[in-house]
Amino acid sequence: MKHLVITGNGGAALNALRAIRSVSRSHNITLISGEDCPAYSPVLTTHYLCGTISYRKMFICNRDFYRSHGVKTILGDGAVAVEPDRQRVVLAGGQAVPYDELLVATGSSVTVPPIPGAGECLTLWSAADARRIKGVSQNASTVAVVGAGLIGLQIVDALWRRKKKMIVIEMQDRVLPRVMDAAGAAIMQERLEGAGVQLRLGQQVWEVAQRGGGKGLRLSSGETVEADVVVFATGVRPNTGLLEGSGVALSPGVTVDEGGRTSAEHIYAAGDVAQGTHPITGRTQVNATWTNAVEGGWVAGLNMAGGSGFSRWRPARVNILSPLGLPVASLGEVDSPESGYDELVRRNGSTYRKLVFHRHRLVGAVLVGEVEAAGILSHLMDRETLSPVVEARLRQRSPFHAANGPWEPLQQEVV
Ligand SMILES: Cc1cc2nc3c(=O)[nH]c(=O)nc-3n(C[C@H](O)[C@H](O)[C@H](O)COP(=O)(O)OP(=O)(O)OC[C@H]3O[C@@H](n4cnc5c(N)ncnc54)[C@H](O)[C@@H]3O)c2cc1C
Repeated sequence: MKHLVITGNGGAALNALRAIRSVSRSHNITLISGEDCPAYSPVLTTHYLCGTISYRKMFICNRDFYRSHGVKTILGDGAVAVEPDRQRVVLAGGQAVPYDELLVATGSSVTVPPIPGAGECLTLWSAADARRIKGVSQNASTVAVVGAGLIGLQIVDALWRRKKKMIVIEMQDRVLPRVMDAAGAAIMQERLEGAGVQLRLGQQVWEVAQRGGGKGLRLSSGETVEADVVVFATGVRPNTGLLEGSGVALSPGVTVDEGGRTSAEHIYAAGDVAQGTHPITGRTQVNATWTNAVEGGWVAGLNMAGGSGFSRWRPARVNILSPLGLPVASLGEVDSPESGYDELVRRNGSTYRKLVFHRHRLVGAVLVGEVEAAGILSHLMDRETLSPVVEARLRQRSPFHAANGPWEPLQQEVV
């Protein structure tokens, strides 16, 4: 009977323990989390923020779940070090927990740039963060969000629905800079501005100063923006602190193979903290999505329990959101990273679609306005080579919206 230890309590951790129990009732499992609460989904925090779900609904299980799965929990005492030679995990409180197999599923944390005053502003990742933002913004009339990425725009959407005046500051010259191409981002920008959201694009925040009960944000343009509440959504980094100095390969996430194995024996990683190999570029990358976390957790859990799970790194990083009622989907590569790629686009009013190919493989897509095809496209992206019939249909005519006519090559002007 082995002792399997899981550090973390999110989608990856929870699915790993489900996978272990799907093949073995006999292994001992200990789950360690820095937070003293059952698992919740960060994806649901913005739904709670705008009031469409209650606080309880963010949680994806209750404490009985762990008991019924025969799992010992250590909640509220995070792991600070892993000692591979001694096969043990050291907790913040000083306790050392021995393991036969260890899963690192510690997710990621929001990073805040080193700007004077930024450290006193809010960020959103955890259920506790969401509760804090909701409380503080209750009586606010203006909220500034720094960062117009996926998380930033979901915060904007949630608070705009609660009738807050929203100001967004983004250092790139477009919204959703990492997950949308320029044309898709321009449509999103139109929607935001049409709804009264004030955008400051291509500008950096240099300082956040206290101004009475609110804040003043000094921008690189020289302007000072005033807001009652400031939320930073400026990126995330993998929570690898417990592995620093352990010898486990980091770059910056934990490098894993297709079975979730790290460079060290008996240590696995899954979810936002892990990075796998991109099948085309050969580079390792983090795939920070909920789907990747639950799949990676399942595969690592099976292997820890002595099974044989396998998961290729999925090029289809699928993100679907609907800020201010405009559905957008971003899958894999949204801009051709280098030569050898080609793109097809079509635009019709605020409906925009783009497919990115690498030879006979579909490697990316952007959908704006209509996102129903995201499921089919992500499925096709998992194939190493498209069949000639499928590729011809994709290139010549959308199989899912035939009424919209043929796809136009990018070389032609997008209208
Ligand atoms: C506002 C928001 C919206 C999002 N929207 C989407 C979306 O629409 N679609 C999508 O696919 N993804 C979305 N994501 C991303 C998605 O939530 C993550 O990819 C996913 O939660 C990763 O799961 P995980 O299990 O790897 O990590 P997490 O869910 O972050 O869980 C990590 C766990 O590890 C614990 N932990 C951290 N450090 C330690 C330690 N040292 N010791 C012990 N425990 C530790 C944490 O307390 C936490 O319980 C969103 C995220 C946010 C914040």
